[in-house]
Amino acid sequence: MSGKIYPVDPAFAAKARVTGEQYESLYAESVSDPENFWRRIGGRVDWIAPFSQVKDVSFDADDLHIRWYHDGVLNVSANCLDRHLTHRGDKTAIIFEGDDPNDSRHITYRELHADVCRAANLLRNLGVVKGDRVAIYLPMIPEAAVAMLACARIGAVHSVVFGGFSPDSLAGRIADSQVKLVITADEGLRGGKKVPLKANVDEALTRPGTTSVETVLVVKRTGAPVAMQTPRDRWWGALVAGQSAECAPEPVGAEDPLFILYTSGSTGKPKGVLHTSGGYLVYASYTHELVFDLRDDDVYWCTADVGWVTGHSYVVYGPLANGATTLMFEGVPNWPDTSRFWQVVDKHKVTLFYTAPTAIRALMREGEEPVRKASRASLRLLGSVGEPINPEAWEWYHRVVGDGRCPIVDTWWQTETGGILITPLAGAIDAKPGSATKPFFGIKPAIVDTNGQVQEGACEGNLILTDSWPGQMRTVYGDHQRFVETYFKTYPGAYFTGDGARRDADGYYWITGRVDDVINVSGHRIGTAEVESALVAHPKVAEAAVVGCPHDIKGQGIYAYVTLKAGEAPSDALRKELIAWVRKEIGPIASPDFLQWAPSLPKTRSGKIMRRILRKIAENAPDQLGDTSTLADPSVVANLVDERLIR
Ligand code: ATP
Ligand code: MG
Repeated sequence: MSGKIYPVDPAFAAKARVTGEQYESLYAESVSDPENFWRRIGGRVDWIAPFSQVKDVSFDADDLHIRWYHDGVLNVSANCLDRHLTHRGDKTAIIFEGDDPNDSRHITYRELHADVCRAANLLRNLGVVKGDRVAIYLPMIPEAAVAMLACARIGAVHSVVFGGFSPDSLAGRIADSQVKLVITADEGLRGGKKVPLKANVDEALTRPGTTSVETVLVVKRTGAPVAMQTPRDRWWGALVAGQSAECAPEPVGAEDPLFILYTSGSTGKPKGVLHTSGGYLVYASYTHELVFDLRDDDVYWCTADVGWVTGHSYVVYGPLANGATTLMFEGVPNWPDTSRFWQVVDKHKVTLFYTAPTAIRALMREGEEPVRKASRASLRLLGSVGEPINPEAWEWYHRVVGDGRCPIVDTWWQTETGGILITPLAGAIDAKPGSATKPFFGIKPAIVDTNGQVQEGACEGNLILTDSWPGQMRTVYGDHQRFVETYFKTYPGAYFTGDGARRDADGYYWITGRVDDVINVSGHRIGTAEVESALVAHPKVAEAAVVGCPHDIKGQGIYAYVTLKAGEAPSDALRKELIAWVRKEIGPIASPDFLQWAPSLPKTRSGKIMRRILRKIAENAPDQLGDTSTLADPSVVANLVDERLIR
């Protein structure tokens, strides 16, 4: 891996929220005296009834409980709206940038407050009460945030389902949590294409287990004609307009649920992750402020869809709790052209930009010109989340997108963690491309070997967390046993992340990939991230995915899938060159035994490579691909199966 270090920029540090010295001392306090540390940080939220208890946690599988601030009472939507009205009422809360570049608007905190109150009153009038589940199946339009906050206002539990999911995926999620009301739109609009959301809901509701749904509220987005079933289906716009713009926020216990959200499904059946109200909001808002070094005049843009946890914590709850201006983007990075992200940055003078490696790699493939033709002068900090960012992609993001001027925060976290756990703080921690660097305040990562022994110093193994933090998930909805089994049985007394990691001599963490994906070549454990990054570092490679395959002598061999950059053609000579390249970059042990050309890779809807499926193809077991319902484009798989190298 590139051993390069990008030191903290002294000019950035001079104004930063956290400096290097402060990081060291605050981190030390946060882990030695978490009770007092989190008591203080808990004060950033407005409580209706203050908490006296801070932390009540046991990671013991037989007595598992995770409670934070549990006697406190609050309302999450009041924290995101009402408390800003006096000083920030006229500040823009949401900038909406539509799929169509001519479609954008600003919504102030005062307007958003009124919209949320009307929606909350509507939900109440339709019989939704505290604890009821509401599914939100909407495009990236302001109504999605309004719907989430309206649920929070009345204490209902939202379950946002990404608008790209099929009727079956939607039905499964509705059935799993016995949803009472669904909020959807006539159609979605992404990259100029229409998505039949309402028709999908109609189909989903014919599936078994979905009879709990009493009402479907339909937002008019494109105006397309849709079938309305009476009395079940109602138009959102007409009903909302008739409601009062005042709605008293429901007092909600800190440990009452705020939302259910299903994980991406990279490793199998998605888990219904349950997050509660108090600790989650404290953690989402605190990390958002510090990791992005938030200022009052920032324009913050996280490109994630609200269907993912990043959209929950870092498009809606974190930014709004902090009184920030948050941009919601309905479109895609490559429509109308591959310069779109940077046009939006210029149009709205975005200062903080947060996206995923998959988007960065896709844009890198198109070269520098689409980026260079936009100014991007407003940018001051860049972020990455979702997968390990290959050092090559990191360098490109830094050099081209950030003009070498903007620090990058590579943030490691999970749906389960509610917020960012391992990340640089731009004014405090020197960056190393490809490393998520150091733990955030209160986070105690540890690396264990295959026997479960905690390792000291520089080492590599499985990543666990030995103590809780306020944003941690509380259970798998409706299946507490699965929660215990998945996260707390493997390493007793600790939360198991499912990820592998390396810690270097400077105490930096490098996520090496998912533990399930580790390849064992002649007794050597090889993480997927390192081999993939070596391949991506080749000038002709756009993207790569690496899995293990059966190998008579070595036990496991290395099987690589490679996507070339636009304009590059596959050839046997190039295949040999790439294999030799990895051998030189990492060593003979990591050189791929098989290298298959992949016009594109199977990914989850959130853009993560699904190695589980690639592994089955490499094992010549295309009939055992398992659950593929969360794939973004199932047709990608057929091609890879046809062209597989082991039969
Ligand atoms: P499932 O749990 O259903 O298989 P998933 O793990 O992809 O799906 P998410 O919660 O969306 O669902 O993703 C979290 C995972 O994403 C992490 O466990 C890690 O593997 C990966 N990840 C996220 N951010 C980073 C990062 N900055 N560096 C490395 N890996 C990351
Ligand atoms: Mg996961």
